[in-house]
Amino acid sequence: MRALTQVAPGVLVATAALYTTTSTVVVGHGGSCLVVDPAVTVADVAGLAALLAGRNLRPQAGWSTHPHWDHVLWCSQLGDVPRYATPAGAAVSQAERAGLIEGVTAAAPGHDLELFGRLTPLAQKSVPWDGPAALVIEHDAHEVGHGALFFPDCGALLAGDMLSDIEIPLLYAGDDPVGRYRAGLEKLAAVQGVRVVVPGHGHVGDSGEFRRRMAADLRYLDALESGTTAAGQDERIGTGWLRAEHDRQFALVHG
Ligand SMILES: [Zn+2]
Repeated sequence: MRALTQVAPGVLVATAALYTTTSTVVVGHGGSCLVVDPAVTVADVAGLAALLAGRNLRPQAGWSTHPHWDHVLWCSQLGDVPRYATPAGAAVSQAERAGLIEGVTAAAPGHDLELFGRLTPLAQKSVPWDGPAALVIEHDAHEVGHGALFFPDCGALLAGDMLSDIEIPLLYAGDDPVGRYRAGLEKLAAVQGVRVVVPGHGHVGDSGEFRRRMAADLRYLDALESGTTAAGQDERIGTGWLRAEHDRQFALVHG
């Protein structure tokens, strides 16, 4: 990780080359900070820690938006602090630990597995720390116990793996996957005062982009459900792994 870019007052984002994965740092008081989804390779996470040290920022806590391997990473240089997640998200990270380790070992090997996926369940609806209010918006789209964070003071929404400009909605393969996804989008749409949206993969957007992505995701779900997704209709589908994901989701809904 080479650079931290300020996207809102006190909100810094670093973007990794692998999967265009974002890591977000929110600045608190007296040099403390909250670190959200540090990712993704060993060098990226160590680089993020070095950037924080260079700015005299000390992590006071972490937040994991959801229990997928690329969102539960950490390194010792980030410090021995609680890394919160929703209770459901923390439970999944325990239950699915073997699969998560498989994922990280295949795609980004070398992480300290003692620190990998060690999440603290947070029952309350805001992250306990001394920085700006960090409200948890929990839903079961993309993954059970997915927790976005919203910072009302600056209007930043850290959306996790939702509202991406480069990825289609990626459904959780449980009961009623489209319904769950719609419910998740509804919760995000109900957030008042979003000025900046930070997706887990992709590019930071403004309030207009927040609304555009919300509409694009709803259009995608409509077409998926009605079976009318046409080639070129959603430029995010493309020809690579997202095409394969789209085909898998089509089978999930219509199979
Ligand atoms: Zn992800």
